[in-house]
Amino acid sequence: MATTTVNPRTADSPEVKRYNRIQRWLSLSDTLIGFALLIVLLVTGWTGRLRDWSYLGARQHYFYAVFLYVLMFSIIAKVINSPLDFFGFRLEHRYHLSNQKLRSWLWDECKGWLLSLVLGAIMVELVYAIIRLAPQRWWIIAWAVFVGLFLLMAQLAPVVLMPIFYKFEPLANDSLRERLTRLGERAGTRVRGVYEWKLSEKSNKANAALTGLGSTRRIILADTLLQNYSDDEIEAVLAHELGHHVHKHILKGILTQVAVTFLGFWLINLVLRFVLAREWFPALDPRLYDFANLPLIVLVATVLGIVLMPALNAISRHHERQADRYAWENTPAIGPFITAMQKLAEQNLAEREPAKWIEFLFHSHPSIGKRVAAAEDWASKPRVEQPV
Ligand SMILES: [Zn+2]
Repeated sequence: MATTTVNPRTADSPEVKRYNRIQRWLSLSDTLIGFALLIVLLVTGWTGRLRDWSYLGARQHYFYAVFLYVLMFSIIAKVINSPLDFFGFRLEHRYHLSNQKLRSWLWDECKGWLLSLVLGAIMVELVYAIIRLAPQRWWIIAWAVFVGLFLLMAQLAPVVLMPIFYKFEPLANDSLRERLTRLGERAGTRVRGVYEWKLSEKSNKANAALTGLGSTRRIILADTLLQNYSDDEIEAVLAHELGHHVHKHILKGILTQVAVTFLGFWLINLVLRFVLAREWFPALDPRLYDFANLPLIVLVATVLGIVLMPALNAISRHHERQADRYAWENTPAIGPFITAMQKLAEQNLAEREPAKWIEFLFHSHPSIGKRVAAAEDWASKPRVEQPV
């Protein structure tokens, strides 16, 4: 879209507001449909029927039956969700934020579904195998196993998972690489690589991120950013990502996840035992290892995720503010940071001034308006050490 230059101080355009409002309705509908599916499966007893079919198809073999159940569950969920997914695809096109062809999108959908099936099947098989082995302490063991899985996933994400959908190449721009090395030296740290993320094949949005763990740690910069931003602006973005690295935000994110998962498994165990003892859903066997209770497990996990979302987003926004501050302190001037933010808002149709409650509940990043204001505020103060 030929976006005209927008004064950052002016309010968001109706177009931006409308786009973000539709996006929110989309994710709300997605959540509600997911809820409805889980509740319908439990209340109608269809989950019991799926379990019986799974045993039949697997010739009573528990392990294969669990897989068949997950397979059917994931097909049903995908079919029910596909109209919304397609609407989301069309929405990005309607707002000129995507240039992805339908075929490429369908292929991505297939890959995404297959990936979630594989990861989901592994997790579900593990949970029920552990429940069978240790019905009393299963939730603590499952939690420990999941912690290991998270660490593995964080490590594999940039080298195995993300390349399934996007191409990555080491950053070719020597002057930018040099700037990063200098930034890193000043911080007494070293990020192993900066990669160009070939986002433009699919999207017109710009993005950058710090990903990976240990030997796979890297900064990725979308080519949509590299093409349209000045070297000074890209340096500000790099410095922000380096700030995440210096402040160990990925590790802190994983630790948060570890705590949330502990709470999650504890709660799931409690709810499962409570509900099964009272026979709320006649289709469920009172024994914990009856995998027909999977919708109940997912339901508890989903509710917990929603309840904790504002807190998790608050932690994330805190990390973003720290990374921003790191960028201001470690780049020669504040100007490029501010113009980079403004360009990002414009390019991604991000709301500069979302409603307070929306930012509080849903946003993992402070609004661009706040980030720019904070940068200007920081720059306007004399650079002397001030007591905090
Ligand atoms: Zn960030």
